[in-house]
Amino acid sequence: MTERVLVVGTGQAGFQLAASLRQKGFAGDITLVGDDASPPYQRPPLSKAYLKEGNEERLYLRNLSFYHENRISLLRERRVTALDRREKRITLDDGRHLDWDILVLATGTRIASPPIKGVSLPGVHALRSIEDARRLRSEMATMRRAVVIGGGFIGLEFAAVAREAGIEVSIVESAGRLMARAISPQMSTIVQQIHCEHGVSIFLNRFAASVDAQSDGRVCGVSLSDGCFLPADCVILATGVIPNTELAEAAGLSVRNGIVTDRYLTTADPTIHAVGDCAAFPDPFGPTLIRLESVQAAVDHGRCLAEVIVGRPAPYAALPWFWSDQGKYKLQIAGLAAPDDTARLTQTEKGGQVVVRSRNGLVTAVETLNAPAVHMSARKLLADGPARDIALSI
Ligand SMILES: Cc1cc2nc3c(=O)[nH]c(=O)nc-3n(C[C@H](O)[C@H](O)[C@H](O)COP(=O)(O)OP(=O)(O)OC[C@H]3O[C@@H](n4cnc5c(N)ncnc54)[C@H](O)[C@@H]3O)c2cc1C
Repeated sequence: MTERVLVVGTGQAGFQLAASLRQKGFAGDITLVGDDASPPYQRPPLSKAYLKEGNEERLYLRNLSFYHENRISLLRERRVTALDRREKRITLDDGRHLDWDILVLATGTRIASPPIKGVSLPGVHALRSIEDARRLRSEMATMRRAVVIGGGFIGLEFAAVAREAGIEVSIVESAGRLMARAISPQMSTIVQQIHCEHGVSIFLNRFAASVDAQSDGRVCGVSLSDGCFLPADCVILATGVIPNTELAEAAGLSVRNGIVTDRYLTTADPTIHAVGDCAAFPDPFGPTLIRLESVQAAVDHGRCLAEVIVGRPAPYAALPWFWSDQGKYKLQIAGLAAPDDTARLTQTEKGGQVVVRSRNGLVTAVETLNAPAVHMSARKLLADGPARDIALSI
């Protein structure tokens, strides 16, 4: 059996792989190397509960004793700078080398910094890491007006928390609707209405041209390309992420919007795998490669790859699902719709909203707002791929 598993990235996917390997009886060495100073933590609360409550303990996936008890070496604040495939060896930023029998790239994503003037001014925040969330949370104590650039999940989650704290919020979105990449136009409209009712000002089809500063260098607002100026003492960059693929690319592995793998999450080099946000893997239910940015994919990839490594390989076949908490609204998505899939909106008896997405008469995805039972039944319905909707009880 393989002796040394080396994992680059201490996020949700890297952690899950290490934990699952031990659960499944893997007895070899496991080393997790990451550039984060904190032990592995969950990111979803960073834009939700953590901003409200500031409870850091709740973020950690396990106590430090877990790594010790499970013989998982955790190397924090160490960046991997190169892979040598011939020697099966990584180089760390302190010059050290570590050897692998199996290498797992779990390098996640980073914020895509848009070409907007002034985005490095003090008072402009991204929201990806625990440090980002700490800084933003401490500013929220005195914040009066925030502009969010980007109307996706993270921008909207921040907007909901900020409104609850009495902060004025404007959202600037270049697309014609909110969360346009991920949900149907019908659900976008419902979510937009909710945020407007909570006092968020939403500017669609508008571009942020620059973040502007007052004479002391601090942010004073955002200028839009149509000349409009939105005053703010804080700006949140929520413009999406890009996968961390540079190590793989420099090592000659195939990269197409993610590190390309087969159905066993294995790259063209049989000793190297990719999991989580950085992996471009075959859609279990379609002909294309997909890359997901979700806890579900990170966790299911980790579990699936652990089986591959311990010698019980099965192709990755998990249904994608996702959630986003925005104030008292829980948006959930089961399945994966294409942009032109049809969308049928219905309401549950309890007032929840459901959008069923379909293609060629088969349901591809179900979006729900405050309808968790329908979400669970959609996950069962779609577990083996697009399906007729006879089993979906709304
Ligand atoms: C604020 C926020 C809210 C979210 N909310 C939700 C939600 O509600 N629902 C949901 O499903 N998903 C949500 N997500 C997405 C989810 O957290 C991610 O999909 C998940 O964390 C992906 O895990 P990962 O391990 O693939 O990547 P990551 O968590 O990004 O971990 C990768 C790690 O690798 C490190 N790394 C990269 N390159 C190197 C290198 N060369 N050397 C060493 N280390 C390296 C990175 O610094 C990082 O620590 C949210 C994300 C954020 C940021």
